[in-house]
Amino acid sequence: MTEQQSEYTGKATMEKITSLAKRRGFVFQSSEIYGGQNGAWDYGPLGIELKNRIASMWWKEMTQLHDDIVGLDAAILMHPRTWEASGHVENFTDPLVDCKKCKTRFRADQIPEENLKAKKCPECGGELTDTRKFNLMFRTHIGPAEDSASLIYLRPETAQGIYVNYKNIIQSNRMKIPFGIAQIGKAFRNEIVTRNFIFRTCEFEQMEMQYFVKPGTDVEWFEEWRKRRWAYYEKLGVKMDRLRWHQHGPDELAHYAKDAYDIEYLFPMGWRELEGVHNRTDYDLTRHTQFSGKDLQYIDQDNNNERYIPYIIETSAGLTRNLLMILCDAYDEELVSGDKDSGGEAGTPGQGGAAVDWRTVLRFHPSLAPVTVAVMPLMKKDGLAELARDIRCELKEDFATDYDQAGAIGRRYRRQDEAGTPFCVTVDYQTKDDGTVTLRFRDSMEQVRVHTNELAGRLRQEIKAYKRIT
Ligand code: ATP
Repeated sequence: MTEQQSEYTGKATMEKITSLAKRRGFVFQSSEIYGGQNGAWDYGPLGIELKNRIASMWWKEMTQLHDDIVGLDAAILMHPRTWEASGHVENFTDPLVDCKKCKTRFRADQIPEENLKAKKCPECGGELTDTRKFNLMFRTHIGPAEDSASLIYLRPETAQGIYVNYKNIIQSNRMKIPFGIAQIGKAFRNEIVTRNFIFRTCEFEQMEMQYFVKPGTDVEWFEEWRKRRWAYYEKLGVKMDRLRWHQHGPDELAHYAKDAYDIEYLFPMGWRELEGVHNRTDYDLTRHTQFSGKDLQYIDQDNNNERYIPYIIETSAGLTRNLLMILCDAYDEELVSGDKDSGGEAGTPGQGGAAVDWRTVLRFHPSLAPVTVAVMPLMKKDGLAELARDIRCELKEDFATDYDQAGAIGRRYRRQDEAGTPFCVTVDYQTKDDGTVTLRFRDSMEQVRVHTNELAGRLRQEIKAYKRIT
């Protein structure tokens, strides 16, 4: 483990992130009252807000900011021939071994080589079965009969919905190569081992963009999209020393890929894939041409009606995996002096008042934070609560707001820190006199007085100019 990694994991462990996520309503275990469902998670009130914001940042980046990219929302259930054409029926497999003694199931490529050779379970030393291929696609049946004619798959990637619609989109939207189609949606994989919270799950969401280019220009576009995707994470404010590229070696390349790079993030459990950028060549469209019998060539009307099957550059990111990354990236524990925010609550452990004090803070970019501004009255009495509610009401139209009047002010600030709320507005007796409120910043914990008339403008300014300080 590198020094950087141990310093980092000391703060943000998967256990801490999982427990914070549950405590604050980001992510819950699916069907928890029945003991939980492996590989599936539910996104709570803060989680769904965060997920929606990550998705809309990506959507804006890929569609609004690119004149040549349009959106799509294709169905999860697709004609089963799609998956024969794509190669998933044949190739989308993981190698699987079971321990005959302790019954643990492993991905053969994830256990030590010597255990595999000796057929010895890494957990209990028992005998392992032979390796067999296991297809990761979920199967179900459409209609009342459960026979092979009704067999249908839950899509394991969103990409194929784009490929089968590529001609529709050219025709309906007069797209010219090069152009892209972006899509966000659910994907399902029957993963053998689901571990590390929402990192690898059976039900998850992807944000994929397929860029159609002329053969021969694919290498150039591939590099261009690598650059753009890297710049996107910079813009998102992610700690860039926790990102790196990993090029797939010949043994890692998917059946369709000519070249592939992963953007890896340094999660608490180590470097793991966050997003893939793939040169999928003309593989997919050629196969769909063969399997559907439809001509999927592009006709270049600006170039003597030249015909060709485009090459495809894919950028494929996990939305739910991005959410985990954003949580890990934002997570911080900070030693702060206790008096700053104690608000008269001296001596409450962990809540200020002591000589030193810890706080847990999620340093989300304000554009991603589930709540942008929390409004709170210093006291419930003397009309302060009503005043605070009015201010919240005015901010509501433009910002995601919260209202909190329960407990000491220091404790309320800490609750908002833990939820990643970048700004708190406190209404006190002075507000009644001169119309000013306290604006408190999550990261620096600094406080300034602002007139309520200028509050919305000031918040907008702060969001635009936001720079993370640690
Ligand atoms: P891995 O090697 O981690 O299984 P992969 O190379 O099969 O992933 P891709 O098929 O390239 O992944 O999928 C694109 C993106 O979708 C990944 O970078 C990841 O962010 C996300 N993703 C893939 N599988 C899962 C999963 N089981 N759970 C959550 N996200 C996933």
